[in-house]
Parts: sequence; structure tokens; C-alpha cells
Amino acid sequence: MLSCANGAENGSKKLGMALMGLGYYSTDILAPSIQMCKNTYLAGIVTGTPEKAKTWKEKYKLKDENIYNYENFDEIAANKDIDIVYVVLPNGLHKEFTIRAAKAGKHVICEKPMAPTAADCREMIDACDANKVQLSIGYRMHFEPYTQEIMRLAIDQDFGDIRQISTGAGFNMNSFDSWKSKKALFGGAMMDMGVYPLQAARYATGLEPVSVSAQTFKIRPDKIEADEVTSFQLQFPNGSVANCETGFHANFNYLKVYCENGWYELEPFSSYNGIKGSKSKGGFEFPEVNQQARQMDEVAWCIMNDKPMRVPGEEGLKDIVVVEK
Ligand code: NAD
Repeated sequence: MLSCANGAENGSKKLGMALMGLGYYSTDILAPSIQMCKNTYLAGIVTGTPEKAKTWKEKYKLKDENIYNYENFDEIAANKDIDIVYVVLPNGLHKEFTIRAAKAGKHVICEKPMAPTAADCREMIDACDANKVQLSIGYRMHFEPYTQEIMRLAIDQDFGDIRQISTGAGFNMNSFDSWKSKKALFGGAMMDMGVYPLQAARYATGLEPVSVSAQTFKIRPDKIEADEVTSFQLQFPNGSVANCETGFHANFNYLKVYCENGWYELEPFSSYNGIKGSKSKGGFEFPEVNQQARQMDEVAWCIMNDKPMRVPGEEGLKDIVVVEK
């Protein structure tokens, strides 16, 4: 394990982060990635499971006083070791705990999708503003070089007008116990994976859609209560059209952008690693990065330097506005 105990990138102290919700993403992806960060370190955890608290305390050398549960979490306000709370809970709990973290005076990273409704997202943004803390949404692709090239192409239009986007992200779900297959905590394919093609259509054009249509389909209604397959179509103010799909029924992950004078594509476009790109003309190759380490490092750097977030709460809100249409 790499040491995280000393100087940050700009020479000052690293910011302490507490991970809240020690499920798959925190355990397998975020905790190992924080070990690679220069500006932040794992200072604490919030968990409802005492056995997890014990394991994490030993593994990550956490202080007893930096371990919280969901009941005593608000006491974190007095904890000087913790600067940032990273909310990695089921979607239906993002709002409550983002607002509680903000009220405790902690900066917040909230996982995607931001919250079930646009009104919820606005409340989260307002709570962070009122408590003078920063809020960022866990859209890790914004920190990934191929994705950043797609964003640049939206502005520079190397291949002329962008006319058509085709994008999809899904996986074949074969374990059905999780909240992700149920409605109560806002599981479902659209909220889980669908935000990736939605994000991609928005960042590949740099525009907000003016019209939205969608269809949902069920393949295994006895096993998946929430939406299993969702297709959606967007049209943007420049006339360009996006065909997007998501689902818990098959493994697919692609982004293709067709322009007036050529095309470019990523496949996969939103996996944790192995992003690959090609263009109708010219090279398309960038180094592999740890997306989550870059994301958490930049968030911490922005907080230390009082700079705006690359992915503020407003970015999460924009997606939910489209979903609500
Ligand atoms: P998970 O089910 O594996 O973990 C959720 C955690 O929340 C568990 O530890 C569970 O014990 C805890 N929890 C607390 N209260 C709960 C309650 N009332 N009901 C159920 N669980 C409760 O889920 P995950 O895959 O880690 O996803 C967590 C969040 O992270 C989701 O918002 C998801 O969309 C997001 N996520 C993001 C990425 C990404 O690439 N950015 C990847 C995976 C998950």
C-alpha cells in the first residue's frame, strides 16, 4: 500500500476523506484508488456494519474516532481530520446524506446519479451553498483523457458539424438481491448505467437536449422490478440526434459520433480502464489513468485552492432534468 500520510501536491497537508457506504464501489474501487492520491487520503468511514468497521480500521489504519455509523454521523462536524465526505450509498439515500454532510460543514462528493428528482438535486446544491462547502458528483469519466478528447471535439468540431451520436452502456445482471434491481432506493438500468450514455450524448455535443423520448422494456419482470432495458432519443439545438440505450440484459459499452466529414468512437467508453478510441482520420491514443484517483485528487485540489469543481452539483442536476422529461 502506498503511503498517504504526508505532503499534498501543493506542499500543504492532504485533505482527509471519509467514505460513506462500504459496498462494492467503495471497497473494490475507491479505497484502493485513494491510496494513489496526492491530495487526499482515507481518514475515516461511515458504515452501519460493525464487522466492516473492524476490517477497514485494520486494513487502512483508521483512528477509532474517525469511524461513524448512520446514527452518529452528524458528530463528524467536530472532526478536524475529515474534510470531505464521499457519499457512496444507494441512489435514494444520496440526498439525505449529502445534506447532512453539508450541514456538518464537510465538502461532499456524491455518487451518480445525483438524486431521484431535479427538486432533490436543487436542495442538495442549496444545502452545500448555504453551508459554504463544495459539492461534486462522481462522474469519473470527466477526468479520463479519451473522454476529455470527446469533449474537446464537441467544441473544436475537427470533423465538422456533429450530426448523430449512438451510445449505450449496459451489463448482464445475474444477481437480483441488490437494491439496484428494485424501485425503492431508485435502482433500475436508467439510473444505474443509463446516466453514462446520457452524459456521453451531452458531453459529445456540449449541448443540452431540446427534446427527449424514451421506451422501457422488461425481459425478466419476475426478477427485476425496476426498469430493465431503456432506450432513449435526444435531439439537440443544433439538430443533432442521439440514440441511447441502457440495460441490465447484456454487456455493451460504446460511444460513436458521426459528423459532417467523418466519425470517431470509443469502445468501451465508460469502463474503469481499457478505454479505446478510433477516428475516421488521425490517431486516437491516450495513456491509461486511474480515473477515480484523478477525480478525488482534483476535487481535493480544488477545495484546497478554492477553485470551482470540474463536475459540480449542477452537472448531476442537468442529467436528472433530462431523465424527468
Ligand atoms: P452497494 O449495494 O454495493 O453498496 C451500497 C452500500 O450502502 C452497502 O455497503 C450498504 O450496506 C450501504 N447501505 C446503507 N444504507 C443502506 C440501505 N438502506 N439499503 C441498502 N444499502 C445501504 O452499491 P454500490 O455499487 O457500491 O453503489 C453505491 C453508489 O455508488 C450508487 O449510487 C452507485 O450508482 C454508485 N456507483 C458508482 C460507480 C461509478 O463508476 N461512479 C460505480 C458503482 C457504483
